[in-house]
Amino acid sequence: MAENNVIIITGGASGIGREAAYLLSEAGNAIVVADFNEEGAKETAANIEAQGGKAATFKVDVSKAEEVEAMVNFAVETFGTLNGIFNNAGIGLVKPLLEMDPASYHKVIDVDQHSVYYGIYYGAKKMVELGAKGTIVNTASIYGSMAAKGSFNYNAAKAAVVMMSKSGALELAEHGIRVVGVAPGFIDTPILGEDEEMKKALSALHMHNKLIQPEKVASVVKFLFSEEAAAINGSTVAVDDGFLSFK
Ligand code: NAD
Repeated sequence: MAENNVIIITGGASGIGREAAYLLSEAGNAIVVADFNEEGAKETAANIEAQGGKAATFKVDVSKAEEVEAMVNFAVETFGTLNGIFNNAGIGLVKPLLEMDPASYHKVIDVDQHSVYYGIYYGAKKMVELGAKGTIVNTASIYGSMAAKGSFNYNAAKAAVVMMSKSGALELAEHGIRVVGVAPGFIDTPILGEDEEMKKALSALHMHNKLIQPEKVASVVKFLFSEEAAAINGSTVAVDDGFLSFK
């Protein structure tokens, strides 16, 4: 089990990132809860500290390279080293392709794709500089391997994340850094919005006919950060309740 490590979690103010922060803290790691939702990040950190864990918060816009670099430096200044990053913050923006103007396209690419490159680049550079071994986990999606209407930008971003996990793993193995991904199905988090009819329709796409709870993804993320997952490298693990396996 990963323990006594320092792990940055982006998108740690909510949903999958928050649940991963709780589980990775329970496993004995110090957590940097990074998000642009400062209030939510503070709530996650306070809950960790209330359970006797170690947490700090950092306000970041993951679509900005210099902010991700500052986040990595903050983790090391605060906890002395860096052993992992969960590149997880993300957004959705559903629009038909014929309305997918450059601004809509770039918004999702910047937040969901470029952020993962920044996290891998600045995170791995710092880990190598420190001689620290560790793991980088990236949140992809089922839509990183299958197309969905209205998701041209999101499909492109998440497919890139799947490939960055492979490519990153290949280049960083010699430094003792594993890079892996997680591909959630539809998870019951605020990113899905409030439309209950839509959520019901999405539920039916899973083998158990319901949305997946975020802690189910978080427990896989915790495993991927652990020593038990030492032989998983470059892969993206689907946590999709069969979404990709049936029609
Ligand atoms: P969520 O909305 O609960 O959490 C996303 C978090 O990311 C929020 O706290 C938000 O403030 C943060 N964030 C968004 N843009 C940011 C930015 N530019 N800088 C810093 N923080 C930012 O949603 P979630 O479901 O927990 O999403 C986490 C990841 O899981 C995302 O990458 C999402 O694409 C992916 N995912 C979610 C689902 C799902 O159905 N919920 C399915 C597949 C993949």
